[in-house]
Amino acid sequence: MSSKVHLGHTARKRFGQNFLTDINIIDSIVGAISPDNDHVMVEIGPGLGALTEPVAEGIEKLTVVELDRDLVERLHNHTVLKDKLEIHQGDALQFDFNQLIKPGKKLKVFGNLPYNISTPLMFHLFTFAESIETMHFMLQKEVVLRLSASPGTKAYGRLTVMAQYYCQVVPVIEVPPESFAPPPKVDSAVVRLIPYEIKPWPCDDTEVLRKLCAQAFSMRRKTLRNNLKSLINDDDFKQLGIDATLRPEQISVEQYVNMANLLCRR
Ligand code: SAM
Repeated sequence: MSSKVHLGHTARKRFGQNFLTDINIIDSIVGAISPDNDHVMVEIGPGLGALTEPVAEGIEKLTVVELDRDLVERLHNHTVLKDKLEIHQGDALQFDFNQLIKPGKKLKVFGNLPYNISTPLMFHLFTFAESIETMHFMLQKEVVLRLSASPGTKAYGRLTVMAQYYCQVVPVIEVPPESFAPPPKVDSAVVRLIPYEIKPWPCDDTEVLRKLCAQAFSMRRKTLRNNLKSLINDDDFKQLGIDATLRPEQISVEQYVNMANLLCRR
């Protein structure tokens, strides 16, 4: 299906609207999400309800955050869903997900994300990682490769380090463009992110880690020493046992955390 009009709604490019239509893929994603009443279930960008309906079917309540006012209105008028949905109209990038926590209940967050904002959205969600049990997102396949990359590979970068600092990353399923209306220009994939209960490499200040990674990866072809020269000197690198002549993609998450902690403890 290639039409921009789906279920009577014209897809808006600026909102990254590619609606899922493939029933088998939808079933697989809902199975992976594993909806339940023991968590606060939260969908980002419900759109026309491709995931919303099957997820809501088996549970008591589903919270959704949707930016497009027309789609919000449709959800409000949805005969089957309206009593089960708690609808927040707004930008998920600005949304305080902590307001949704209920006593003793963490969030399970999911969504077929608008690809144009998926990286900043992921960085935003990491700041709520302690309140989240799992996240399942449809993303550009390339972004899933970046999230799950190993050090020393081309896909390994700032997003990898931050994602793997907060979460265990599990690619779930690849999804071709034909599974959407209209089809996106890129391949897609679903990823499961499981925030660590106890982080393998705890960092004193994640904001320091975030800024350090931004600077370290600012010029990928340069050495770590070059990119970080305003922050970390050769003695520091020696003390941490890090070879400063390596490129930023050759440094492990643990080593980035060690560098950030050194900066925090100065
Ligand atoms: N979940 C639907 C599906 O799978 O068919 C729609 C997915 S579509 C790729 C992305 C959805 O996110 C759209 O409904 C779009 O309006 C919504 N959206 C775009 N930007 C958003 C934002 N900043 N905050 C919340 N929702 C947003």
